[in-house]
Amino acid sequence: MISARKIQGRKTVAVLPVHYPRELFTAMDIRTVELWGPPGPPRGPDAGRIQTYACAIVRNALAFLASGGADAVDAVLFPHTCDSIQGLATLAPDFGGWEKPALRYLHPKGEDRPAARAFVRAELVHLADRLAELTGSPLEIPRLAAAIGLHAKIDRLRGALLSRRAFLGMGDPALYRLLRRGEFLGPEDHLAELADAARGLGEERMQRGIPLMVTGYVPEPMTLFDSLEAAGAFIAADDYAAVGRRVPAAPPAVGGDPLDTLAAKAFAMPPCPTRGGDQDARMEYLASLYRHSGAAGLIVHVQKFCEPELFDFPAIRRRFARIGAPLLYLEGELENSLSGQVITRLEAFVEMVDAGRMSP
Ligand code: SF4
Repeated sequence: MISARKIQGRKTVAVLPVHYPRELFTAMDIRTVELWGPPGPPRGPDAGRIQTYACAIVRNALAFLASGGADAVDAVLFPHTCDSIQGLATLAPDFGGWEKPALRYLHPKGEDRPAARAFVRAELVHLADRLAELTGSPLEIPRLAAAIGLHAKIDRLRGALLSRRAFLGMGDPALYRLLRRGEFLGPEDHLAELADAARGLGEERMQRGIPLMVTGYVPEPMTLFDSLEAAGAFIAADDYAAVGRRVPAAPPAVGGDPLDTLAAKAFAMPPCPTRGGDQDARMEYLASLYRHSGAAGLIVHVQKFCEPELFDFPAIRRRFARIGAPLLYLEGELENSLSGQVITRLEAFVEMVDAGRMSP
């Protein structure tokens, strides 16, 4: 996949989860391929260099990098998502034999403040300088403005497909495959596919199953959606870090200094525990997403040992208990497919939600 995405004459960067300024890469003509693990058993023994109580995302990523899985790329970007990825930024070059540039991006934590925006802006400039070393050409501000416009169109379409989910005649397995293609496709290609799908959005309700909301990290294994569909449910609201949390809730106004716009966008995203912030505000956001989507139950789908996600879980459980929402907790380790036991739990949950909707 990585070799296939590498286009002659263009640099390619593998990107660890979650948040990073894609616009900067587009403006500098650099392809990105996101590395969510990858799923399945680790490719190579180097996963064992990381303690067993770290998540499968970082264990698999180290094994993959060390075994040469990403040798076709020119660099790897390690956003400062959590302690584990911060550690990986050091471990991969030291222990994994990674000899290409290890780029870092410290995305904003906490609330929107002038000082925080100035910090993000400085981080963007620093990253742009590192990328310029890679490509041999500096960032051109007009190209950044164009890239911001392009990604704003992508964000709008992704937002429309997610928020008007019930009016789209496309099952979740196909919709999520489409949305996740943005993790490796060039932005123009991803935009064309999204626009094509968005033409299927109508005024008539197409999804008639049991509406559920999902919050969590990354939808792996993707067979989760097949199992939910088979059980008669669909995802009416998405709060996956890999999907819905990367669509700005209120896109910043364009115009003005593109670097300022990009810094503002970092604070316009839905609340995400990997960016810290006010937990109560996040609970408000989740409860509002749930209410407006008409969901009848919540699935919390996290990676085992994921500190940021697990830190918020008690608050989610409390908040949704207060709302009276049925909740299913699923913990994954990037398996290739769901176990029979998990499928049974999903089916039982959908049945319970359905029964609850029918009772007076
Ligand atoms: S799953 Fe959680 S712990 Fe693992 S890399 Fe992602 S944020 Fe960090």
